[in-house]
Amino acid sequence: VLRALLLAPPGAGKGTQGERIAEIYGVPHIATGELLRNQVELRTPAGEMAKDFMQRGELVPDDLIIGLVLDQVADDEPLPGFVLDGFPRTMTQARAAYEWASANDRTFHAVIRLEVPTDELVERLLERGRIANRVDDTAETILRRLSVYSDSTAPLVEFYRARAILVEIDGTGSAQDVTSRIRSRLDELDLD
Ligand code: AMP
Repeated sequence: VLRALLLAPPGAGKGTQGERIAEIYGVPHIATGELLRNQVELRTPAGEMAKDFMQRGELVPDDLIIGLVLDQVADDEPLPGFVLDGFPRTMTQARAAYEWASANDRTFHAVIRLEVPTDELVERLLERGRIANRVDDTAETILRRLSVYSDSTAPLVEFYRARAILVEIDGTGSAQDVTSRIRSRLDELDLD
């Protein structure tokens, strides 16, 4: 059973690939952006707290997101497998994830890094803003999210490289091609 997470800037295809990989390996796809957007829509306390951060393209506070994700991966008992999409995004989150995983015998098999050139990311996000009506896909917020990614999330690449679970994938081309690239790399792993 697969336990993987997607580590990539906004617009790199985390959502699309996360869904596909989860389906192929038969595990739940846990997308933190989706979780948060649901909370905002339902006007829960978590949603009310998250809303302004999301609208500005900032990260929501670590405690808030760590609580939400742990609820998902350990509802009654720890899920055997999952694809995490959009978490962790900070070193604090990465450490919390690692603590949970090692305490519950659920360490990750793979951290999938999707690499896409920045100008293509911006283009893809602007396009999504035109069709999908996401409040954070505006020119200004897109730039903010990309810079939040380089400041807060990019350092996780080295953290996972050092743990030898980083899987680096060319994220350009068709969604189908990217999925095949990911699959061929995951199929080389020992998914116990
Ligand atoms: P996404 O759909 O993954 O692009 O996430 C949309 C927004 O949700 C982000 O810009 C953040 O404001 C918030 N968000 C999602 N995941 C996290 C996370 N792990 N930590 C902090 N904020 C998050």
